[in-house]
Amino acid sequence: MQEASKKEAKRIGFAMVGGLVIGLAIHALGQGEWVSYVKPLGDIFIRLLKMVIVPLVFSSIFMSMTNLGTPEALGSMGRKAVAYYFMTTVIAVLFGLILVNIINPGVGADLGTAGLQALEGDMAVAVSEKKGLYETILGVLINSVPTNPAEALAGANILQIIVFAIFMGIVALYTKEKAKPVVALMEGLEEMTLKLTHGIMRFAPIGIFVLMMDVMAKSGTDAIISLSKYILTVVVGLTCHAIFLLFVASVRLKQSPLYIIKGVSAPLLTAFSTSSSAATLPITMTAVEENLGVRKDTAKFVLPLGATINMDGTALYESVAAIFIAQAYSIHLTIGQQVVIFMTASLAAIGAAAIPGAGLITMSIVLGAVGLPLEGIGLILAVDRLLDMFRTTVNVFGDAVGTIVVDSFLKTDEIGQKEEVNQELTN
Ligand code: ASP
Repeated sequence: MQEASKKEAKRIGFAMVGGLVIGLAIHALGQGEWVSYVKPLGDIFIRLLKMVIVPLVFSSIFMSMTNLGTPEALGSMGRKAVAYYFMTTVIAVLFGLILVNIINPGVGADLGTAGLQALEGDMAVAVSEKKGLYETILGVLINSVPTNPAEALAGANILQIIVFAIFMGIVALYTKEKAKPVVALMEGLEEMTLKLTHGIMRFAPIGIFVLMMDVMAKSGTDAIISLSKYILTVVVGLTCHAIFLLFVASVRLKQSPLYIIKGVSAPLLTAFSTSSSAATLPITMTAVEENLGVRKDTAKFVLPLGATINMDGTALYESVAAIFIAQAYSIHLTIGQQVVIFMTASLAAIGAAAIPGAGLITMSIVLGAVGLPLEGIGLILAVDRLLDMFRTTVNVFGDAVGTIVVDSFLKTDEIGQKEEVNQELTN
């Protein structure tokens, strides 16, 4: 890991702890409005990160396609990435289900004191528009194809941008000479957006400090206390999954867990304070390439895809939340219903957008699938922002580890192919 990255991670770490302590102090003093004077700095930080996403995703995926050289190479990488995403998401949900059945956080929970909140505004609309699982997954698939690429870019629809960039990158391979200016343009754009990301990272300590302070100053301690068993279940589950991912990454990278944590500390802390995998994407990209030695072409393709569809933390959270709600309402769930929760939570996470609070909205799919009351979401609303920080961190870690794993398998494949060629030559 480079010296500059180490310093940067340290600064962000201090900023986060500082924001946490000062935010809690402001909360204790009951002066939450103080934060509003500096909050714009946090908002600007998130906006700056978002500013880079569209040009970065488009140019990175495009360049990754042209560098890969053949659609077959893309297929091989894509299959590995999707297999990894699927397996780790399923494992995450299993961790959640096992823990929630052991800890039983909702048994005996008093709906009154736990702070059942009425769903209001956008949340109420989003939940009432609930769709079935099949509809959601099919919707993700159909909507991944843009009808108007300009609209996809303007609306920052990452999945549509990925699909368009894949097509354009492959077509560039076949267009050869005439595509050269476009390839050069994309190469330049990619370099520029990465430089811009580095620039924005200088501002990260201030942005993260303010964001953390804001969340802490506004956090409702009453809700945290009455839902502590539920919070504990989610956090312990996420921790178990993170340890599992860390183990996988260490084995594949043949490096110590500490080395890996240090390498991705900047994106993890950014994810924690922004609660958005999408906003964190530019930082995750630079971290895995520069600190963990993942090859650029792998990171460029696997990470944007992961940030959009791979959400281990969200899947785990949704399974725990659904069972917690059932327990709180004293609704007995059969094994069959728990299996439905297992499947829907794994798939609903794919449909969740990489933005704050998205997981809570796709919760309605899980609850609806087993007939649990949608108002149950009101029960966990008060602590959702807090838990979003934890689950987004695991989402981003899952994406980073996915990139490490896919890259290591691709390297093994390449070595195998080279050995085959050598053997043929010597025969
Ligand atoms: N905030 C999460 C993310 O961006 C999604 C969620 O709400 O679970 O990864």
